[in-house]
Amino acid sequence: MKLLVTGGAGYVGSVNAARLAEAGHEVVVVDDLSTGHADAVPSECRFVEGDLTEVAPGLLAEGFDGVLHFAAKSLVGESMTEPAKYWHGNVNASVALLDAMVAAGTPRLVFSSTAATYGEPEQVPIKETARTSPTNTYGYTKLAIDYAITTYAQAHNIAAVSLRYFNVAGAYGRFGERHAVETHLIPIILQVATGDREQVQIFGEDWPTEDGTCVRDYIHVVDLADAHLLALQHAMPGTHGIYNLGSGAGFSVRQVIDTCRDVTGHPIPAAVAPRRAGDPAVLVASSEKARTELGWQPKREKLADIVGDAWTFTQSRR
Ligand code: UDP
Repeated sequence: MKLLVTGGAGYVGSVNAARLAEAGHEVVVVDDLSTGHADAVPSECRFVEGDLTEVAPGLLAEGFDGVLHFAAKSLVGESMTEPAKYWHGNVNASVALLDAMVAAGTPRLVFSSTAATYGEPEQVPIKETARTSPTNTYGYTKLAIDYAITTYAQAHNIAAVSLRYFNVAGAYGRFGERHAVETHLIPIILQVATGDREQVQIFGEDWPTEDGTCVRDYIHVVDLADAHLLALQHAMPGTHGIYNLGSGAGFSVRQVIDTCRDVTGHPIPAAVAPRRAGDPAVLVASSEKARTELGWQPKREKLADIVGDAWTFTQSRR
């Protein structure tokens, strides 16, 4: 298939672009490089630098079999202080992309949605039928895009799938997490192990969890990419399928720090800090639907393996 990957210079987008190209697809990457890196675009992929809203119509008019839409603003904290960046950068840009797909007759879409669309869950593990009640602007914008996709898919016969990621981590060879401003737990802990940061802050230890720190479900970025390939194959015209992607196991912040200590052999000093605004206490996925309907089978579920790949990547960048 000829596929357009938006945000393919970013972490999750570049891993997906690489895996899609390896699977034999013709991949064009579009990215405005606001947070991505040109050298993260796989060499097999044609790269178009530009604002999605400006370049998508012309690009899609070339004729594509599908779009994988990763380009997004994705910092929860920033989304609370700079909401406009998220409503414009996520919602407006995605609607413009959908309009361009309709104009060009592009038949398939796979979208990077998020566990943040659910907010504080009523039941864990979280199923796709759970109430969606985001606790932050980032989650609201991703949920708004999901609603837009549902209606565009129905009205314009697009075969659409949203994959709701839980906590993506790990790396794939030279493709990994390289954020200018790092906010994610595992890369931050690894920065302590490399000596680039003195200690890790634990955002609250008074949460209603076993050890008082937040619990998250970590999924390897390569397992995530496998799900995108399956989603492309299973997407049905006129429908919008929504699937959670996680490993189904929860790890607390303290457990993640301990695993990083084991993997790196570094003591990794940690200090308790106040809670971070917008954080739910526990986010763990039920990925049953992806397993049964898409035939998805994550293969890299051990947290130590996920951290190990992230650590290899981090060291390779030094
Ligand atoms: N976290 C933390 N210290 C940090 C970064 C994150 O305690 O320096 C916590 C955060 O509050 C959350 C978990 O680690 O409970 C995972 O956060 P991350 O930003 O990696 O992903 P999120 O779950 O927000 O998507």
